[in-house]
Amino acid sequence: MSQILKEVLSANQAYATNFGEKGNLPLPPDRHFAILTCMDARLDPAKYAGLAEGDAHVIRNAGGRASDDAIRSLVISYKLLGTREWFVIHHSDCGMQLFTDEIIRGLLNNSLETAIVDENGWRDVGKGPGSPEGEYIDWLTFKNLEQSVYEDVKRIRNHPLVPAAIPIYGFIYDVKTGQLIEVSKATEVGQAKVSVTT
Ligand code: ZN
Repeated sequence: MSQILKEVLSANQAYATNFGEKGNLPLPPDRHFAILTCMDARLDPAKYAGLAEGDAHVIRNAGGRASDDAIRSLVISYKLLGTREWFVIHHSDCGMQLFTDEIIRGLLNNSLETAIVDENGWRDVGKGPGSPEGEYIDWLTFKNLEQSVYEDVKRIRNHPLVPAAIPIYGFIYDVKTGQLIEVSKATEVGQAKVSVTT
């Protein structure tokens, strides 16, 4: 058994031992909101947004991008599980700013092993073969952080399956300070177009 596998199972045992009343939590999130954010290991949405089990939906992917699959989850979150406010939270120093579709496609074409990055950029040190399948994936990289938050909020806002009553807030999480910084033009474009009925 790998060290990591052992550690995870042992941590889980400790967690389950003190599970208490959490076994009685209902399925729909109690605080009726959802967060779309990056998978970056430095981000802990439960801590940075003050969530307990049962509070909110957290949808994560590389970049916290509004991919078709992220929108699928958000629509389920609202339509079947009743969330009424959504956050899109990208972050400073995001890895998605460090490559392009062209770069990752080229790397994957050479080798499936982990690439390295240095002052000369990304390169493969592992052995081949790679695969051309990377050509078929939109990797959703970005250069400008505020712009990516804005574009994702806008895409969600304008999606035909997203009701106008849901406000969508755009934020950047600062990995140096732990603070959430609002991207006002994103929150503005994400405003609810009709008032929420409660
Ligand atoms: Zn990231």
